[in-house]
Amino acid sequence: MLDQDGFPAFLEALRRMDAGFSALPEHQSTVAGVERLAEALNATVERLRDNYPYFHPLYAGQMLKPPHPVARLAYTLAMWINPNNHALDGGRATSAMEKEAVAEIAGMFEWKTFLGHLCGGGTMANLEALWVAGQLHPRKKILASEQAHYTHGRISGVLQLPFETVPCDGQARMDVKALANRVERGDVGTVVATMGTTATGSVDPLLEILALRKKHGFRVHADAAYGGYFALTENLAEDTERAFARLGEADSIVIDPHKHGLQPYGCGCVLFQDPKVGRFYKHDSPYTYFSSAELHLGEISLECSRPGAAAAALWATQRVLPLKKGGEFARGLERGRMAALALFEKLRRDSRFVTTFPPELDIMVFAPRVESVSEASALSRELFEGAAKRDLHLAVAELPIRFWEANLGAMKRDHETMTCLRSVLMKPEHLDWVERIWDLLSLSTDEVLAARERPTKSRPANPV
Ligand SMILES: *Cc1c(COP(=O)(O)O)cnc(C)c1O
Repeated sequence: MLDQDGFPAFLEALRRMDAGFSALPEHQSTVAGVERLAEALNATVERLRDNYPYFHPLYAGQMLKPPHPVARLAYTLAMWINPNNHALDGGRATSAMEKEAVAEIAGMFEWKTFLGHLCGGGTMANLEALWVAGQLHPRKKILASEQAHYTHGRISGVLQLPFETVPCDGQARMDVKALANRVERGDVGTVVATMGTTATGSVDPLLEILALRKKHGFRVHADAAYGGYFALTENLAEDTERAFARLGEADSIVIDPHKHGLQPYGCGCVLFQDPKVGRFYKHDSPYTYFSSAELHLGEISLECSRPGAAAAALWATQRVLPLKKGGEFARGLERGRMAALALFEKLRRDSRFVTTFPPELDIMVFAPRVESVSEASALSRELFEGAAKRDLHLAVAELPIRFWEANLGAMKRDHETMTCLRSVLMKPEHLDWVERIWDLLSLSTDEVLAARERPTKSRPANPV
């Protein structure tokens, strides 16, 4: 199951890298404990096996996508050097690779002169974007939708910037009227547009947000940590596509190569349209920046030490799979979306389920259709466990019943939110597995519903 095909090429590359340093005098490194290496690795495997099979198509729960083999191997290769992309002194080659790879990401939004870099992930990237926003609009409000990632509220707290949420419409997108009313009252410095919410993959109405910016002059920050790469796809719904087509008009963009970009964790990216914001990062380092007058990435990022290996992995991946419309990478994203639409259609037509609006990207939510919202919540949890016993791994989410309203029918609305199942179909292979996923889901649902109709028999305790 775990592919090993790349290892011959990897060993060859490692030999070539070694040969590159052959002019140095022979030396023997003193590494303690190598004789216990195999034992430690075996012990590590024992521990690592205690995981859901994230790499398998039957893992269809959280946002987890296996890194591309070239990313894994390029990362490993770079670790023999272990470059630090803070400064050119510690990461000359990988700093150049980072600049190239980030320029290719910016190219997806047609940005040529911009400021950007990699960082630890979406949280760190959003922190930098909101920090710059706060420098430009001190003390003014940061607005994000109630479905925006919780990190925005927390980051605003860290930065001591006032933060407010904007209600969502029935499709879990920022409600335009509510936003218009709020900005009319003034004091808004930045609006965060989420391009693919974490719960449902909903895309905020960027066109309307940009129109309001024109009138009110706030900054627009696009949190495209999850959804950014969908700018390359060609099978989005019309309004979603229109929003992605104008993503390049945002003042800053966050996109996570470690979400949809086939990278190991530890790879986020922040981009600023105006390179002049680099002035906020300005600092003198008494320790670094001596080797070159060229840009050291530490001069434009808040984190200091960063893995050059992450840049090598991303650079190599984008060589194999360029970020192009119609290319293999884009087709992979399109397949995940097709899988989500196909599964959604099955759920929508089946009276055992209640669904929301159609998926905008490749994420969908659903729940068993029973008498009441509270009972559906309890059964969703049972279904989560039941499906897992059949090796189908889903996720659980809690959403306002407003998002379900159009489809709730006679269900008793006895709770403001409903616990539901959430499935992220982000692997290209998911499209070939839709039938299998559906069969397992269908069987598990029958089981859970049948157990409920025989309350006298031992029904599994409601897992928390
Ligand atoms: C995942 C995600 C984040 C947080 O990013 P991390 O890489 O987990 O730190 C922020 N915003 C959105 C929309 C996300 O999906």
